[in-house]
Amino acid sequence: MFVAKTTAEEFISAYPAGNLYLSKVTGHHYLVANKDYSPSDIITRFDASVITDRPDRYTVQKNANEHIILEPRYLQYLNHSCDPNCYLDTDKLALIAIKSIRAGETLDFFYPGTEWDMSESFQCLCQSSQCLGMIQGAKYISPEILNKYPLSLFIKSKIG
Ligand SMILES: [Zn+2]
Repeated sequence: MFVAKTTAEEFISAYPAGNLYLSKVTGHHYLVANKDYSPSDIITRFDASVITDRPDRYTVQKNANEHIILEPRYLQYLNHSCDPNCYLDTDKLALIAIKSIRAGETLDFFYPGTEWDMSESFQCLCQSSQCLGMIQGAKYISPEILNKYPLSLFIKSKIG
């Protein structure tokens, strides 16, 4: 188990796929790897506990008409990054490492890899050199940029 690195980070809970922290600076939760992973490692499998036909801030898009709530629920705390270390594979229902990840690193994925048109856009603060700024869904990003990322079959079908 990891303890918070600074007083700005509060340890909340330990889960199989990672430890949940709360940033007192941003007020956001985030999941931190609790062991090392290699690219293509399956960090955890997941399921859909609820399927709706409209996106909201807690859903992940599976296809044109299905937006799912992830089960286990704590996976909702996976944050977005424009330079992510994970892929949330909604076709295989698995969270997969796409980089070497060391224990203690925050787990994140590229939201437009599954989301076509998000219900709530946000200004990304991932600080990567390739940060795309406002994140609204794949619909608003060029295919050239999207194709640098792992994408769901649905997003691939939308960009041809
Ligand atoms: Zn970013």
